[in-house]
Order: sequence, then C-alpha cells, then structure tokens
Amino acid sequence: MASAVNSKELLEAHVARTGGKIRTRFPPEPNGYLHIGHAKSMHMNFHLAFEKEAVPRDRRETVFRYDDTNPEAESKEYIDSIREDLEWMGWKPVQTTYSSDSFQLLYDMAIKLIEGGKAYVCHQTKDDIFKCREIAKVNAADPNANAGDPCSPWRNRPVQESLDLFEKMRTGQMGEGSATLRLKMDMTSPNPNMWDQVAYRVRYIPHPHAGDKWCVYPTYDYTHCLVDSLEDIDYSICTLEFETRRESYYWLLEALDLYRPKVYEFARLNITRTVLSKRKLLKLVKGGKVRGWDDPRMPTIKGLRRRGYTAEILNRFCEDIGVTRNDNLIEVEKLEHWARSGLNVSSRRVMGALSPIKVTLSNLEEAREVEALDVPFAPERGSHKIRLTKTLFIDASDFRREDSKDYFGLAPGKMVGLKYCSATMRCDEVVDGEGGKDAPPAELICSLGDLSQEPSSEAASAPAGDAGGGETAKRPPVRPKGNISWVSAEEAVRAEVRLYNHLFTVDSPDDKWEEQINPESECVMTGAVIDPSVLEKEHSVGTPLQLERIGFFVVDKDSTPELLVLNRTVTLKEATGK
Ligand code: ATP
Ligand code: MG
Ligand code: MG
Repeated sequence: MASAVNSKELLEAHVARTGGKIRTRFPPEPNGYLHIGHAKSMHMNFHLAFEKEAVPRDRRETVFRYDDTNPEAESKEYIDSIREDLEWMGWKPVQTTYSSDSFQLLYDMAIKLIEGGKAYVCHQTKDDIFKCREIAKVNAADPNANAGDPCSPWRNRPVQESLDLFEKMRTGQMGEGSATLRLKMDMTSPNPNMWDQVAYRVRYIPHPHAGDKWCVYPTYDYTHCLVDSLEDIDYSICTLEFETRRESYYWLLEALDLYRPKVYEFARLNITRTVLSKRKLLKLVKGGKVRGWDDPRMPTIKGLRRRGYTAEILNRFCEDIGVTRNDNLIEVEKLEHWARSGLNVSSRRVMGALSPIKVTLSNLEEAREVEALDVPFAPERGSHKIRLTKTLFIDASDFRREDSKDYFGLAPGKMVGLKYCSATMRCDEVVDGEGGKDAPPAELICSLGDLSQEPSSEAASAPAGDAGGGETAKRPPVRPKGNISWVSAEEAVRAEVRLYNHLFTVDSPDDKWEEQINPESECVMTGAVIDPSVLEKEHSVGTPLQLERIGFFVVDKDSTPELLVLNRTVTLKEATGK
C-alpha cells in the first residue's frame, strides 16, 4: 500500500521551500459559482485548520487554486465570480494559482511514469473499462471467483509504443475517445480507485485559462495530488467522499518520489431545504427556476449576499457549525439565526407597509414631526425624523374587520397606539372599496388621541368618590396593547418588496429534487410603501434595513431612482410565517 510518509530528504526540501510556514489550499473547480459549502471549506482552509493545529498567525499560508482540469465545464465567468466571492468573504490567499499553469510539468511527469513502466496508453472505450471494473469488483469480493482478467489488453505494451502514442495524443493525431493514458496501479486491489485510473484524455476543446495549447487534459485525480505536492501544501483538506482516493493520491506521489502532503477529510456541509451541488444549482439557473446564480434564494455566496447576508454572518455560521466527520445536515434555521443576530446590530430601522391601507386622521389639523432612533439600542448611530400627516398608510395585517382578544391591531371602534408618537388612533369608520367586505377596505377614517391626555376608560367609568377624600383618583391612561407602524401617505416612498421562502419543500431534497422545488419560494409585493427617511441616509445596493415589525431587508440591485426594491433576508423572529 502506498505510503503517506515522506523521506527525511523530501521533508527537508519541502521545509526549505516553504521556509517552515504551514500551507493549506482552497481548490475550487471553476465550473460554477461558489456556495455556502465552499464558505465552510474556505473557513476551514484559511482559518480553522490552523487553529486546530495551533499554527501561529505568522506561519500560516493559504494558496487559492483554480482546479481547472475540465475545460468543457469551466469558463471565464466562473473564474471571475469565484475570485470575487473569495475576496468578498474576506480571505487573503498568499498566492493564486491554476492547475492548468502546471500542465507542462504534469505532462513531463506522465512521460516519466510511462518510462518507468507505471503508465500506458490504452484504447479501451468507456464500456470496455466498465466491464473490466465489474470483473475487478467480483474478484476483489472473492479471490476464488475467477471472474476473468480485469486488465486492459494494452496494459503491458512496450514503453516506447506508449511514449509514441502519448506524443500522438498531444499533437492532435488521435481522435477524442480513441486513447487515454492510464496509470498502472493495482487491478487486484479492493479499492476501485486503484484500478488503473485514467490520467489523460484527448479533448479538442480550448481551455478557459490555458487557451488552445493543449488537446490532452489531465484528470482531476491525476492533477490534484501532483499540484498539491508541487505547491508544497502541508494539509490537503477535502470532503469525505474523497477518503477512498487517499490511496491513489499517495500511490502517484510515491511513483514519482514527490513530497506528500497530509490529507484530511471532513464532512460536506448540507443545509436543509436547499441543494449544495454546482451541477444542481446550474440546472436551477438554466431551467429558469431562479433569477440566476445570484438569485436571493440560491445558497450561492452571490445569492446569499444579494439576500442580505454579510461575509461576517456567513463566517460566524461556519465557526458555529465547526468541523466534523459525521454527516452534516444543518438546519437552515441555524443560518437564519446568525443573520438575525448580525443584522439586528447593523440594520437601521424604518417603518413600512407591504400591503398598504389608507388611513385618514379626521382630527389632525397640522402635521406633527416625531423622532426615532435609527437603531433603538444604539443612540450613537443617529436618528431620523418622521412626519405624521393627515393621511397615512398602515399595513393590511394591522387591520381586521372582526376584533379578537389575541389581536392587538386595529379593528372597527378599536384604539391602537401609533409607533413613535405618543398618540393613539381609533377606527371610526371603514370605507369599503369595490371588493366590498371581502376585500381590504379602501380607507379607514380614524381619530387621533393623545396618549398623555386621553382619559382612561376605567377612570371615566369609575364611580366618583371611591378613592376617599372626595377626589377622583388620577389613574394612568390605558395604553393600547398594540403599537402599529405607519407611513405618511403624503410622503411615502414606493417600493417593491420581495419575500422569500425556502427553495425546496422538503428538508433533504433527494433523487426527485426537481419535483421538490417550492413553487412559492418568492412572493413579490409591488405596492409596498416605506417611510421617506429611508432615502435620507445610505440606501445603496446591499444596505441592510429593518422594516419595523416586518423583517430584515436589504436594498436589491434591481432598484431604480423611481423604485426601491427590497429583499427580505429573514423575518424578525424565528418561524413567524409572516
Ligand atoms: P460541487 O459538487 O458543488 O461541484 P465540489 O466538491 O466539486 O462541489 P469544488 O469547487 O471542486 O466543489 O470544491 C472546492 C473545495 O470546496 C473542495 O475542497 C471541496 O471539498 C469543498 N466543498 C465543496 N462543496 C462543499 C460542501 N458542501 N461542504 C464543504 N466543503 C465543500
Ligand atoms: Mg471538485
Ligand atoms: Mg464538482
């Protein structure tokens, strides 16, 4: 079995090259956008791995590597987006590399392997290889099975023949699929990764980074360990499905007598109600199920960012879930928890109504100005002024035609408080619109009461003289239980508000994931109104806002000077359906 242990010479040479610094790498393939699983991997490679090994800060280094061995799936768009996301997440690699920058070296090593009798050019088709693997499987399960010979008929061809053919592969004289370079590993091993892996295949397709220089491309398995070694990585950290590939990883490094990094595996992150696979996410994008890779419902870094998540929130989440080798299905509520805890501090408060109902304050002669803190528990963050005018909007959810005990909103004849005004408002009249009583009212006629002067209803009905001394006892006014938000109808800023729900209807989307897509994952409220103070301060794309009593929001890139577009990041409290 291949050994992971470096000789003293290899180790000394490695340390001489790194100057004793400990190096990890983050190696995404540019075949899609990064998602929150990659956030975990970055957190691990740029931070946690060092913490776990108690590596001092000045001795840590992380290489950011594009693992770009599949030109058919990779593109410049993905290359650029990955770099942006890595920077946005706040990680600073010591170096940015591309596996494809090593194509020449990898090719030279392949020749060395052929010369050493450790690789051969093979002409088996995919089908042939599959059949041989089936035989190897039976043989591995039972040494007496005698299922036949699992080896390629070209396995023992002369070295020179393989060298000539490999040269032909490189110079474009072999058709796609007509030849591969295979490693002469161990067809009797119980580990299928040892069954003569394919190291090179012919592909007449330009490469997004290397251009059209090559028509033979190394496979992931061949490339990954070699580049890890060439880059002098100390800890090569990958997800658990790669565990069985350790043996082949070390086989190849041993075959070339190269420095061997330490391989560690950790569990892949899965989050409920979403999928974390670039292949599936690409399908959602291509199938028009979402607005693109950066759709606020997507678990991509770009999607989460557009949804209002910050790098800090994502990294706190990664810190919280830590690293484990157990199956890792994390409840999406945990992510939302970290969003709330971060946004509660960073988002300034404004009032708004998603489905506005007009209110006329019959007894308000002159507009009043009130002041509200931008962040209630942080006066140093400033305040804003809001005008209470004769006509207002309130949200439809704050009015019901029928009152009930557990309802603190407005109802016919009922009084509620108005947020930030020490005032109450009583609904005196309901004006129905075209939809009659089945639709929200067209308008509510209300009267304003001053909370400081409003006589207590109890005090008014109390029998005189019962407080002794012949004087009516002064009792505090009855404060309404509900304090609703409002927006001046005269000054309201129109907004489109997008509310999001989970992308999938089940916790763990399975083989039928495409049927488990939530058809109601987005709800667009086109007629929302927001207090004009929203425009007085920072409101560029990405600005976090809390619409009071409604949720945490962020300004979306679809905003125009005429129309503010907000995405709801999360509701204010856990599990409110609102
Ligand atoms: P996908 O299936 O989404 O394409 P991948 O593993 O092929 O994922 P890469 O871009 O090649 O994705 O991965 C870069 C690094 O991120 C790898 O080290 C990989 O192990 C890690 N990674 C990818 N997805 C996850 C995940 N869900 N949880 C933790 N780490 C992940
Ligand atoms: Mg990969
Ligand atoms: Mg992949």
